[in-house]
Amino acid sequence: MLNMAASAGSRSSTSNSTGMEGFPFPVVKRPTEDSTSKDQTTAGEPKKKPCRACTDFKSWMKLQKQTSSVSVQESKAVEETKPIECPLDREELGRSSWSFLHTMAAYYPDTPTTEQQGEMTQFINLFSKVFPCDECAEDLRSRLKSNQPDASSRHNLSQWLCRLHNDINTRLGKPEFDCSRVDERWRDGWKDGSCD
Ligand code: FAD
Repeated sequence: MLNMAASAGSRSSTSNSTGMEGFPFPVVKRPTEDSTSKDQTTAGEPKKKPCRACTDFKSWMKLQKQTSSVSVQESKAVEETKPIECPLDREELGRSSWSFLHTMAAYYPDTPTTEQQGEMTQFINLFSKVFPCDECAEDLRSRLKSNQPDASSRHNLSQWLCRLHNDINTRLGKPEFDCSRVDERWRDGWKDGSCD
């Protein structure tokens, strides 16, 4: 499902050089992300990183090669060891869906319009009706009855989703995630630089 954002982007007719073509919201650029052309270190400025969620794997590797010391051979080896692509099981569907949902929240506007808030709330409610794991969808719908999305800001939506995911983690006997690190996990990369 993560690819949904990317494929939505490729359908756009309004093209620009930000790498975020067709993204549903005007994405506020972080100081560490921007177009490829700005990846070069300019005097006195920190090195800029491309937006990982707005780029397909091959383009991402290309950009990484330009900004890091990953060799051509290393990136080819990564591409060649891609696993066989099969229909998703519940675990894979869940993982991909959470990736999409958290990433969507991570790039939601800080100050959404009333319309955007309504659309996001509607989307999550519709998602609970079409999610193709029946048991999961039913559980989500029952949670939404007493816990509607907080779409009032990027922070609030990310935290709401993190708490929802944690409730499901608990139900499934999985460890809780530290919601104070949700931006590191889904937008900025870990503070230790391991995602850079
Ligand atoms: P996942 O839970 O898929 O998490 C993926 C990654 O997200 C983790 O590796 C971690 O880095 C990060 N993460 C973990 N917790 C959080 C958090 N709280 N906030 C932010 N990031 C976090 N499976 C069932 O068996 N029964 C169900 O009823 C069920 N309901 C589901 C409902 C929904 C809406 C979704 C999307 C999935 C549901 N699943 C359900 C699937 C289940 O939640 C897991 O996705 C699946 O078991 C795979 O788990 P995982 O351990 O790989 O990590």
